[in-house]
Amino acid sequence: MTISSVQSSIDAALASAGRAPGSARLIAVSKIQPLERVTAVLDGGHRLFGENRVQEAAGKWPALRERYDGVELHLLGPLQTNKVNAALDLFDAIQSLDRLSLAKKLATATQERGACPMLFIQINTGEEPQKAGVSPNEADQFITECRSLDLPLAGLMAIPPVNEEPALHFALLAKIASRNGLPELSMGMSSDFEIAARMGATYLRVGSAIFGERVSA
Ligand SMILES: *Cc1c(COP(=O)(O)O)cnc(C)c1O
Repeated sequence: MTISSVQSSIDAALASAGRAPGSARLIAVSKIQPLERVTAVLDGGHRLFGENRVQEAAGKWPALRERYDGVELHLLGPLQTNKVNAALDLFDAIQSLDRLSLAKKLATATQERGACPMLFIQINTGEEPQKAGVSPNEADQFITECRSLDLPLAGLMAIPPVNEEPALHFALLAKIASRNGLPELSMGMSSDFEIAARMGATYLRVGSAIFGERVSA
């Protein structure tokens, strides 16, 4: 696929669900991809990207931001508290807020800076032990705790278990967001972004369907 065919599929999925054109934004997930694939997508005019690791993004995006105006970068992978300031230097959004120690660190750092990126709480909808994220039954309380730290929350993010029906997980994420008044839903990857687009995603995170398979390092 190419980014334009992915975008056409998203447009069709949104239309089929009666959703407004453009109501789900496509994040091109560029982790591990060779630089020339990333610049090809930038040259085509796309500006919204996602990365998994602070260090990898730090080695790539400051130079790309000098070459291309209007880049918007989202952190999708786990964030260690000792990398919070580096992450705030690099990213416009953090989608992996998943614990109170990180929320506290983000609250202090963003108050010092007087600016906060868009924040998404990651929910471990499948309650998988190896996966990051707040468990669904602790989500409401964690959202309340973040709000009491004056952290502005944009929405929720989830990565469903690989062998389960993603729609069930997308529905659960949407339900938690809705009852907590959170407008943004980051869900859907290469294998299931059309389902996510139909089910209310506002951000779709698509890597291999745009760039091709990730070449292992
Ligand atoms: C890698 C990654 C993606 C993109 O995965 P693809 O299957 O290549 O589309 C999306 N979200 C997160 C959190 C990821 O780590």
